[in-house]
Amino acid sequence: MTTNLYDIVVIGGGCVGLSTAYKINQKYPDLKIAVLEKESQVSAHQTGRNSGVIHSGIYYKPGSYKAKNCVTGRRELVAFAKEYNIKHDICGKIIVASKEEELAHMNKVFQNGIANGIEDIRMISAKEITEIEPYCEGIAGIWVGCTGIIDYVGFTKKLAELIESKFTGSKVFLETEVKDFIKDGPITTVKTNRGDFTAKNVIACAGLQSDRIAIKEGTGTDSAIVGFRGDYYDLSEKGKNKVRNLIYPVPNPQFPFLGVHFTRMTNGSVECGPNAVFVFKREGYNKTDFNLKDTVQALGYKGTRRFFAKHWRFGLDEYRGAFSKAYFLKRLQKLIPSLQSDDIVPGRAGVRAMALSREGNMIDDFKIEAKGNAIHVLNAPSPAATAALAIGAAIEEIATKQFNLG
Ligand SMILES: Cc1cc2nc3c(=O)[nH]c(=O)nc-3n(C[C@H](O)[C@H](O)[C@H](O)COP(=O)(O)OP(=O)(O)OC[C@H]3O[C@@H](n4cnc5c(N)ncnc54)[C@H](O)[C@@H]3O)c2cc1C
Repeated sequence: MTTNLYDIVVIGGGCVGLSTAYKINQKYPDLKIAVLEKESQVSAHQTGRNSGVIHSGIYYKPGSYKAKNCVTGRRELVAFAKEYNIKHDICGKIIVASKEEELAHMNKVFQNGIANGIEDIRMISAKEITEIEPYCEGIAGIWVGCTGIIDYVGFTKKLAELIESKFTGSKVFLETEVKDFIKDGPITTVKTNRGDFTAKNVIACAGLQSDRIAIKEGTGTDSAIVGFRGDYYDLSEKGKNKVRNLIYPVPNPQFPFLGVHFTRMTNGSVECGPNAVFVFKREGYNKTDFNLKDTVQALGYKGTRRFFAKHWRFGLDEYRGAFSKAYFLKRLQKLIPSLQSDDIVPGRAGVRAMALSREGNMIDDFKIEAKGNAIHVLNAPSPAATAALAIGAAIEEIATKQFNLG
C-alpha cells in the first residue's frame, strides 16, 4: 500500500499525459508529480498504435486549437527528437486528388495550409506526383515538405526518463490503474490497484477512458468517448518498392479521418490504412473483440445513435473494408492502381478515442476542461501526438491559473 502526497497526479502515460507532466515540471522543477499509467509500459494505447506521422497542420481549421498546437507542437517535437536522438525523418508527403470532385476540397486544404502558416507547401501536377512517387497516380496534388515520421514510443519513453531523472520528486508509476477518487477539502485521494496517492491537484489525460475518469472524479462531461478502430495492412516485400514516403488521399470533409494512406514507418516498414470502424470494445484491437460494458455504454448514448442515423452509409462502408481485403485494396488502388493483393499483408490496429456530442457530432477540436483542483483532457484526437508538447504547454498555463501554481 502506497500513501504519498503529490502536488499533481497526472493520469495517463500516453503522449499527452507525459508531455503535460514534463512541461509543468520544466516550469516548476520543485513540484512533485506522479504520472499513473495502468499498463506495464508507456504509450500502450493510442500513442503507441498510431501512424507515426508528424503532421504539418495543413488540414485544420485556421484559429482552432488543433491548427495552433499542431504547428507549434510539430516544431517543438522535431527539436526534441534532434536533441534526444529520437528516430525521425522529415521526408515530406503528398496529398493526391484522384477525381475532379476532390479538387475543391483539396484547394480548401491548401488554403488552410497557407492560413495556418505551414512551411514548404505547394500545389503539384499529375506529372510531379509520379516524379515524387513513381507508382502513384492522381490528377493534381499538394506537396507538404514539413511532414515527417517519428518513433512516438521512443519519444514518450524519453519523456518518462526525463521526468524521473531531472525532477527529483516526480515519478512515472506503471501498472497503476486509477479506480476512484475521494475528495477531502483541498486534497484528493486517488485510489489505485497499487494503493492510494494523495494529491493537491489532478490532471487526467486518459485517452479512451477520459470520459469515465472525468465522471468518477466529479468534473463530469457533456460528451462521451466512442472508439473507432483503424486497421492497417503492411506492404509485403514484393509491394514495398511501390511507396517511397507518405501518400495521402484528399480527406472526406465530413469526417475528422484522413482516409486510408501509405506511411513509411521509422522501422522501414510501409503501412497502409487506417480505416475507421466503430468498436464494441474501447481497447479492443482485434476485429471481433467485444466488451459488454463498452457496447452498452456506447449504444446507450444518444450521441452514438444520432451519429449512426446520420452516417450509417459511412459505418457500413468501413465494416466492409474491415472484413474484406479486396475492398480495402480497392481503396488503396485509388492512389496506386498497380497495387495487387499479394502486395499487402494484414498488420496491426489502433483505436481512436473520439468525443461525440449528445447531438451526434464528432467534436473536432481538442477539448480540455478545468474545475476545482482538476483538469481533464476530454478530446485529444489526431494530431495530438504531433501536438503533444504544445498541448502540455497549454495545460501548464491552465494549471498555473487553476491551481495557483505561480
Ligand atoms: C490509428 C491511429 C492513428 C493515428 N495517427 C496519428 C499520427 O500519425 N500522428 C498524430 O499526431 N496523431 C495520430 N493519432 C492520434 C494520436 O495518436 C492521439 O491523438 C494521441 O496519442 C492521444 O494521446 P493521449 O495521451 O491522449 O492518449 P493515449 O495514448 O491513449 O494515452 C492514454 C493513457 O491513459 C491510460 N489510462 C487510461 N485509463 C487509465 C486509468 N484508469 N488509470 C491509469 N491509466 C489510465 C491508458 O492506458 C493510456 O496509456 C492516431 C491515433 C490512432 C488511434
